[in-house]
Amino acid sequence: MHYADNINNLNFADKIYILDTTLRDGEQTPGVALTVDEKMQIARKLNNLGVDKIEVGFPASSKGEIQSAKKIKEMDLQSTLVGLARSLKSDIDAVIDSDLEYIHTFIGTSPLHRDYKLKKTRQEIIDAAVSAVEYAKDHGLKVEFSAEDATRTEKDFLFEIFSNVSSAKVDFLDVPDTVGVLTPLETRELITDLKQNFKTPISVHFHNDFGLATANSLAAIECGANQAHVTVNGLGERTGNCSLEELVMTLKVAHGIDLGLDTTRLYSLSNLVGRLTGVKMPVNKPIVGDNAFAHESGIHVHGILNNSSTYEPMSPEMVGHSRRIVLGKHTGANSLKSKLKEYHIDLNDDQFNSVFSQIKSLGDSGKCITDDDLISIAITELASARETPIVIKGLSISMGANVSPTATVKLEIDGVEKETAKTGVGPIDAALTAVRELIQEDIDMELEEYNLEAITGGTDALAEVFVVSSDSYGNKSTGRSTNQDIVMASILAVLDSINKLLLIQRAQ
Ligand code: MN
Repeated sequence: MHYADNINNLNFADKIYILDTTLRDGEQTPGVALTVDEKMQIARKLNNLGVDKIEVGFPASSKGEIQSAKKIKEMDLQSTLVGLARSLKSDIDAVIDSDLEYIHTFIGTSPLHRDYKLKKTRQEIIDAAVSAVEYAKDHGLKVEFSAEDATRTEKDFLFEIFSNVSSAKVDFLDVPDTVGVLTPLETRELITDLKQNFKTPISVHFHNDFGLATANSLAAIECGANQAHVTVNGLGERTGNCSLEELVMTLKVAHGIDLGLDTTRLYSLSNLVGRLTGVKMPVNKPIVGDNAFAHESGIHVHGILNNSSTYEPMSPEMVGHSRRIVLGKHTGANSLKSKLKEYHIDLNDDQFNSVFSQIKSLGDSGKCITDDDLISIAITELASARETPIVIKGLSISMGANVSPTATVKLEIDGVEKETAKTGVGPIDAALTAVRELIQEDIDMELEEYNLEAITGGTDALAEVFVVSSDSYGNKSTGRSTNQDIVMASILAVLDSINKLLLIQRAQ
């Protein structure tokens, strides 16, 4: 049963445009600033995904914005590049100076914006908007006009200003829900009304203050809006904008509308933007969150292993994500077996039962068991039957004023003693450099994470070091150690993770 088939007032535009504003509104996320190079990386990915338009920035706001717009322009992308401008000649000139051909110009239209921000009458607002549109059109630009705070603007005034800029041959009319106050039903009313009264294509720019940006954008498109402004990961001012990945996938899965985007690129785009902006997605973020295709309960995993549609509305492959079976208190033996198989870890029955009961009791204590945890538990189980490959046999550090610290490290690797001395920027760096040199013939490893914490206060505090290492086969392992000496704690933690990696490699 598909309810959408029974909705008789769906009214999609022939062509639905996606205007991505990650580089403009997204960059206005509190605490986020992107370099020119980072903006270029994101623009390339958005282009490869296939979005119609990319809003690259607000050129009047800084020289850097003009520079990044120019650089992105030089990339010769297929997406149309858009620059934001207030309805001011100088702002429009900045967009022209950036070599952009499409301008998104705006002015506040609500009584709040008119009276408290702009201190202008209705007529002055209309005049400024019309002049801006005419000036930009005279310079050969495509022009999109936004009535900022449209959804708190009196209907008669919104229609009046839209009709004035339409007469000035504006190309798109944009409806910003600037503080995210619309509901889906109100959106239907407003957009249907606008579509009945204007021939100019209608765009929407919806904010997510009540978590409705995607629902409202979908409602707008369902009744004929021609375009939606979106951002990757839903970034943007305050709680952000409509999320690109959510809107695109809802249209695709719920309505079968293919916007011509390569959706298999969504997950990696989300990760890139998360990394460059430093805004990590919560695990339960739709489409791209870590848990979007993760399953723990035995019942669900059993269903998924037989047919993934039982508990997934779309396949992870559609968005370039991957399915994950998570272990925890709800885990069944089958999940654990499939997991161990995935990592090529062979356990005998006793070892398996021991690992299974450890996972269950960790789960009961409220812990979610990651793959790394499982590997660690399984390898420890295996290791208890085997020799630890690498053991530390000696360490000395020499330090003095104006010389680099030197660490001398002695390791026993598979029964053979090896020793080396290395300098570093500090004692830990020197010691870890020495360890790396000693093990380089045995394993090709990368230290991905290093965290040092003092557990107690005082100069005799215990230091706890936690590390994550990976090898060239894509295996990962964690290592942990607590010691009163931070250098020793660091070496032991690294060796802990390297020993696990070696045992995984040997088990495979
Ligand atoms: Mn906005």
